[in-house]
Amino acid sequence: MPGFEFFGDEERKELNDVLETGILMRYGFDGPRKGHWKAKELETAITETFGCTYAQLTSSGTAALTTAMNALNIGYGDEVIMPSFTFVASFEAVLSVGAVPVLVDVDESLTLNPDAVRKAITSKTKCLMPVHMCGSMADLDALKAICKEHDLILLEDACQSIGGTYKGKALGTIGDAGTFSFDFVKTITCGEGGVVMTNNKDVYTKCDGYTDHGHDHLGVDRGADLHPFIGYNYRISELHAAVGLAQIRKLPKFLEIQKKNHTQLKNMLQQVTEVSFRVIPDESGDSRTFLSWFLPTEELTRAAVAEMKAQGILAGNFYWFDNNWHYIRKWDHLKNSTALNRLNPLQEEALLKLRTTDFSVSDAIMSRCISTAIGLTWTEEQTKEKGEKMVAAIKKVLSAAVVGA
Ligand SMILES: *Cc1c(COP(=O)(O)O)cnc(C)c1O
Repeated sequence: MPGFEFFGDEERKELNDVLETGILMRYGFDGPRKGHWKAKELETAITETFGCTYAQLTSSGTAALTTAMNALNIGYGDEVIMPSFTFVASFEAVLSVGAVPVLVDVDESLTLNPDAVRKAITSKTKCLMPVHMCGSMADLDALKAICKEHDLILLEDACQSIGGTYKGKALGTIGDAGTFSFDFVKTITCGEGGVVMTNNKDVYTKCDGYTDHGHDHLGVDRGADLHPFIGYNYRISELHAAVGLAQIRKLPKFLEIQKKNHTQLKNMLQQVTEVSFRVIPDESGDSRTFLSWFLPTEELTRAAVAEMKAQGILAGNFYWFDNNWHYIRKWDHLKNSTALNRLNPLQEEALLKLRTTDFSVSDAIMSRCISTAIGLTWTEEQTKEKGEKMVAAIKKVLSAAVVGA
């Protein structure tokens, strides 16, 4: 899965270009930088690779979400509907702009359940934020229809699904805006970094200024720029962008390997009738960063995870239900609104409500889910061995359950 598995001379060459000039800043220093504009080049590569009109790099995926929400005018009093299964960054970004995160159930696609979304809409709803978890997508046609009906913004958190598509279009380029993360464990990495993608010029212009103290970037130099609105510093550095530039060129190779290893593993697990797979709204668009699957009960799932662990296939298996980062169940700091400074009253009220919200539909799905991260360096033989160990572990817990019954 992560692009760091394939660091090599390409990353070193791009980094050295920057180090040799000493200009680590993405703006200005036109002479001394000797023609190297890594952040600009990476933005162009992103628009070309993913087929969007505009791309604005940021210092992280979290910063990309925050930037996008500012540019889309999401703020105090607005409700953003998002899934109960995501990474903490999604709600952090909503809170950071003063808006209210409204968490709703996922379905077996592991992302927003359109029926749950409909039920959560109020007069304050401003935005739907599907999170395309673990390499695959939400039902975007259904969500787009809801947005149209209720005049809502669609913001795609595509941080985990770089290279995935839906009906031929890149994930992250389908809504009003979309984001990728290039943090250390993502499909392509800059070390830290992120991007907002959009086809809307106004949204892009606001992202461009917001990430750089509100600069309009129209002056003859930085000192001559005007500041049409308040911004912050969410810039990416030239060093980070340089790594990303080498990585994005390798993306087709990463995706090809993921497809091969994913298919091999899935074919093996498919032989066990009790295993079912994640629902993928457009199967051909799965980036295949993970293979996500279910067992019939929580007990069997727990037993299978333990058995696989005993077999030494640790790193490949995340058990989301018990995990502190990705699922509502363990987000006590959110449910208790534990912030370093005061949240606004609307946020306080909404977060308190999360303590008693019924997430049993999500629980029933997440407690049976196992996601296996697909390695880029696995050989055919190694993939086979992993698959065999997984199948053996599942069969062992299934037969123990039968004997125990
Ligand atoms: C990684 C990630 C982000 C952004 O994370 P950063 O580490 O800030 O780049 C946002 N949403 C999801 C779903 C993610 O997995």
